Amino acid sequence: MEETHQKVADWLAQSRCTVAFTGAGISTESGIPDFRSPGGIWSQSQPVLYQDFLASAEARHEYWRQKSQSHGDFVAAEPNAGHRILAKWEQQSRLVGVITQNIDGLHQSAGSRNVLQLHGTARQVACLDCDMEAEADPWVKEFIETDRAPSCPECGGLLKHATISFGQSLPPEVLRQASQWAQDCDLLLVMGSSLVVEPAASLPRLARRSGAKLVIVNREPTEQDPLADAVLHAGIGETLAEIDQRIA
Ligand SMILES: [Zn+2]
Repeated sequence: MEETHQKVADWLAQSRCTVAFTGAGISTESGIPDFRSPGGIWSQSQPVLYQDFLASAEARHEYWRQKSQSHGDFVAAEPNAGHRILAKWEQQSRLVGVITQNIDGLHQSAGSRNVLQLHGTARQVACLDCDMEAEADPWVKEFIETDRAPSCPECGGLLKHATISFGQSLPPEVLRQASQWAQDCDLLLVMGSSLVVEPAASLPRLARRSGAKLVIVNREPTEQDPLADAVLHAGIGETLAEIDQRIA
């Protein structure tokens, strides 16, 4: 393990273009439950599909009920060592930026500036009919007080968190940028993602095909471990701290 830490530290020091890719695993270390895991919100209730949200007031109410439940976790969560080290590396120009599957905004709270949020952000709400965007907090409070799904104060349209729901396509511009980063980097650090769902599954392959080194940090084995130049099955915060110490 120590040898691998040193190897990754050396690659990081020599790299001209390093990109980080993060999934739920980095945020569970901040106490945010992985929605997909046993005990996570989706093991208790079905996520509301985008098409149902559009079609039915009942589905919109259920959507806001689930979102209000998980909102408390986001508000209370603080970035952990993993988030902070990635932000530090970006400030030191060791890292171009972070591509994340997470919607909790913790990379930005830690100080990261170049963050591609593949699934949007739960810190904001957006109107589906006009360009109105706002902090999510007051709208969640309004839902809890009134028990009614809120509508846009500008145009009366449907108000939804600025996240990508099931059945909704990923933002093409963010996706294009993420693929570009994966192709351009010479080192891709993947952390806390099981690399099963798209585009998580294809970004490491894209980077690998373009000649980049691939490092995977995850507590559990992932489908793409055989593809990686280094694999660390351990916590992310502790692992990044070990690597950070060893950068020459
Ligand atoms: Zn609107």
